[in-house]
Parts: sequence; C-alpha cells; structure tokens
Amino acid sequence: MIELVSEDRCITCGLCVKVCPTFVFDQDDNGLPFIARQEDCQTCFVCEAHCPVDALYVSPFADEQVDVDEDELIASGALGSWRATIGWGPGRTRLASVDTTEFINRILPPRPPRST
Ligand code: SF4
Ligand code: SF4
Repeated sequence: MIELVSEDRCITCGLCVKVCPTFVFDQDDNGLPFIARQEDCQTCFVCEAHCPVDALYVSPFADEQVDVDEDELIASGALGSWRATIGWGPGRTRLASVDTTEFINRILPPRPPRST
C-alpha cells in the first residue's frame, strides 16, 4: 500500500498521478501529489516504478496501513528500491533482460493431456 510521498524529493512531474490505475493521488496547488484515497491502492508499485526521483514508497503489505519514517526508509535503501530492482532508471539493468525463468510455468499448473 502506498505510504509515502517525499516532499523533499518530489519534483512535481505528476507522473504518479497519471499512472495510478485507481486515482489514489490528488495534487495540491503547487503540484505536489498527496495520498488522497489510500484505501483504493492496489499495491501495484506502478507509481514507485515511474517516479524519476525515488520519492514514493509502496509498502508490500497490501491489506494494512503501516507507519513509515522517511529517514529510516532512506537509510535502509527502501525508498525507490522497487524501481532499482526492476532496473528502471539511468545506468540500471532491466530485470527483463536478465530474468531467464519461464514465468508462466511457475504460475500455471501443468496442462492436462487432451483427450482424442
Ligand atoms: S501502488 Fe499502484 S494503486 Fe497504489 S498508489 Fe501506486 S500506482 Fe496507485
Ligand atoms: S512521480 Fe515522483 S516526482 Fe513525479 S509527482 Fe510523483 S512523487 Fe513527485
């Protein structure tokens, strides 16, 4: 669930507002996004992935709100960590270019033999 918009880092590009599929964010008069409908968050990480300055933190806990501290998130490297993990951003290696697992085989059961 989305938990943090860093006012210090945000450059008010508005990308998170545009990409959120459930319209969780609104913007104040200065263009700064804020979490207006947290309960609608789908924990999809799309906003965090798109933020160019790692100003957003989406907690992996989808069903509960958790208290977060920005300084602690920065110190632990968690702020923007999903964007780094998937390789978005300058100088990073995209996950899709190194992941050789057959993803579809991991999530689907084997198909039963067809009767003739
Ligand atoms: S995690 Fe997904 S649903 Fe939640 S605020 Fe970000 S883009 Fe919106
Ligand atoms: S994507 Fe990041 S920098 Fe852009 S408005 Fe949202 S929080 Fe701010």
